[in-house]
Amino acid sequence: MRQAMAEAKVGDEQKGEDPTVNALVERVAELLGMEAAVFLPSGTMCNEISLAVHCRQGDVFYCDSLAHPLRFEAGAPAAIAGAMACALPAKMGVYTPEDLEAAIGLPSRYAPTPRLVWVEQTANIPGGTCWSIEQIRSVSKVARQHSMAMHMDGARLLNAVVAMGCPAACFARYFDTVWIDFSKGLGAPVGAVLAGSEELIDQAWRWKQRLGGSMRQAGVIAAGALWALDHNVERLGEDHENARKLAEGLAEIPGVEIDLGSVQTNIVIASLPGWPGGAHGFIGALLEGYGVRASAPSASQVRFVTHLDISGSDVDAAIDAVRHLCIPA
Ligand SMILES: *Cc1c(COP(=O)(O)O)cnc(C)c1O
Repeated sequence: MRQAMAEAKVGDEQKGEDPTVNALVERVAELLGMEAAVFLPSGTMCNEISLAVHCRQGDVFYCDSLAHPLRFEAGAPAAIAGAMACALPAKMGVYTPEDLEAAIGLPSRYAPTPRLVWVEQTANIPGGTCWSIEQIRSVSKVARQHSMAMHMDGARLLNAVVAMGCPAACFARYFDTVWIDFSKGLGAPVGAVLAGSEELIDQAWRWKQRLGGSMRQAGVIAAGALWALDHNVERLGEDHENARKLAEGLAEIPGVEIDLGSVQTNIVIASLPGWPGGAHGFIGALLEGYGVRASAPSASQVRFVTHLDISGSDVDAAIDAVRHLCIPA
């Protein structure tokens, strides 16, 4: 990947003259079955530009209560688009058409304008869980009945593609805007691509310029993303196998609770209700004592992610580390 980046043909990205960026956006538009696409520095910018394109101030978008823009985008939906979030209750990141319909309620002068329905694929904090095509279709039907747009935060869409064996375009066809991230499991250093209709992507370009997301010789980073599409998609299956092995190993340790049904891709969420220092103390001890890096999405949950730098023997080492912490000799 580094070599491909070093050798990339480049040009002025913001003038549309970078051949490597152009190749990347065409490739992603085709992968997702969309008319057009734009290269952005991050997935966060894809989400926030999409909100700005779809919503006017005071409009409401509907998403899972654990969705990325509600927790990790520094309040940007309110700060940039001025959109309101309606957080829906969800099971493993997936809400139902009934939940959505109930939240929308009846049209009224008092209510905020329902504008956008948001799907996170895979659902990160719920554990890398997948929306099925049928689940997407059923919420999109409600969205369309209410003349709402559909947006997919597809940071890990390709994990769902590999896990479920469905082409990306089969998921994407229910959406107006969809993006994929290159800096997650695909293993590139920077970048995400947002796709949609010509018209929406033209509007997204205005926001890209406005937010300072337009670049110059961005082919250097786009080459990493193209390389990832060629080499790092199929292998996501190895990450999923490693996550499963990790989850099954951890589930056998007394004091560790895991819902194995939620382990569908490359994320494992474990609860350690009895650990005295809470999840934050636990991940500190894991890192300090064993060099195993995990995160703590809440006071009781520890989150592990498998990726292309994690081997099967790393997984064994992580299981051993958790065992040592939970069962002191
Ligand atoms: C990582 C992530 C993002 C943000 O992507 P960046 O490229 O890190 O800005 C958005 N949504 C989800 C679900 C993510 O996991």
